[in-house]
Amino acid sequence: MLRKDKGEKTMLNKKSVDDINVKGQRVLVRCDFNVPLIDGKITDENRLVAALPTIKKLVADGGKIILCSHLGKPKGEPKPELSLAPVAVRLSELLGQEVKFAADPEVVGPNAKAAVEAMKDGEIVLLENTRYRAEETKNGEAFSKELASLCDVFVNDAFGTAHRAHCSNVGVTQYVDTAVVGYLMQKEIDFLGNAVNNPERPFVAILGGAKVSSKISVIENLLEKVDTLIIGGGMAYTFAKAQGGTVGDSLLEADYCEYALNMIKKADEKGVKLLLPVDNIIADDFSNDANTQVVACGAIPDGWQGLDIGPETAKLYAEAVKEAKTVVWNGPMGCFEMPNFAAGTEAVAKALAETDAVTIIGGGDSAAAVNQLGYGDKMTHISTGGGASLEFLEGKELPGVAAANDK
Ligand code: AMP
Repeated sequence: MLRKDKGEKTMLNKKSVDDINVKGQRVLVRCDFNVPLIDGKITDENRLVAALPTIKKLVADGGKIILCSHLGKPKGEPKPELSLAPVAVRLSELLGQEVKFAADPEVVGPNAKAAVEAMKDGEIVLLENTRYRAEETKNGEAFSKELASLCDVFVNDAFGTAHRAHCSNVGVTQYVDTAVVGYLMQKEIDFLGNAVNNPERPFVAILGGAKVSSKISVIENLLEKVDTLIIGGGMAYTFAKAQGGTVGDSLLEADYCEYALNMIKKADEKGVKLLLPVDNIIADDFSNDANTQVVACGAIPDGWQGLDIGPETAKLYAEAVKEAKTVVWNGPMGCFEMPNFAAGTEAVAKALAETDAVTIIGGGDSAAAVNQLGYGDKMTHISTGGGASLEFLEGKELPGVAAANDK
């Protein structure tokens, strides 16, 4: 308990780029430039655009800006198709200023060192993909020191990797005096941190997605904090089975039935309203073209599987959201990738779009669903990190955030 409290406090009180003076300093900025590439072309540049405010601020303040990031999984060796070179080209266009690419198979090899050495105040250099180095994901000392040797100040603006301890977001901070967070990271900490630790009530959390087993810590942590916990998606069938229902061929984690019952009991003891589906859309095949019908929860015949919440459940969940002042959502209500099983997820997205509550969408599938269904700009905050936002909701300390200096 003590550890968690301590972690939450320090996670929420980090120095940012607004608290330092970088004039004439070499500033290493860990960004999240892990963009999708097809034939060397960037197909979604949201992550580049999201990084611009921090970069512009540091340029305006007269720092020498050295950007770094990982891209894909080159597995510790140079892979030309995963080079960050195309990112330098596009960033130059977006910033209206040259971003010099420091091509270097060692990332911090002779080329990168020479490029940094030649920098003037306000100039920008982008290093090669940090995962060209095998030590990166092992948080190895040598590469951490090499990165630190390039800079006077370190800025972490990559929330997507904040739940991992790697050289370029954690190791490097051991060898620099000043390590702060960027604007993007600060925004994530502010929204997720405030929602979870200081929410305006009623506070409603909606959890969906495939498996109970991957959301255990989230359920447990949120039960301590929320007024209402809504459960949908594949994991609802384990709850239905635990309560004595039949779930046919639906996703079921039989080993977690007892856990599900414990959570129902815990919610009751804590006075948390726990909402589970009352009906489901079921299908005779895992396919968009399958035959479907709507049945009551826990009444799914053999040969059928639940692929979405039913219309009564969608209404119930939308009503619960209407009363909320803060809503956190992680995980779709059904197999939204198939249009015939997207209605439940869409109903929840619509309810969130229409409420005045603060609405926070965890990254990954929920973010994809909200954007795909066209409600993205109606949400208060859509997290840029799937795994990282989930760990935030679990109440864990994120190493990438914890490593920054406290205020
Ligand atoms: P997660 O990564 O745990 O958030 O799971 C997201 C995935 O869960 C999405 O790809 C959904 O298609 C899937 N999912 C949601 N509901 C169901 C369901 N009823 N049956 C099978 N998969 C589901």
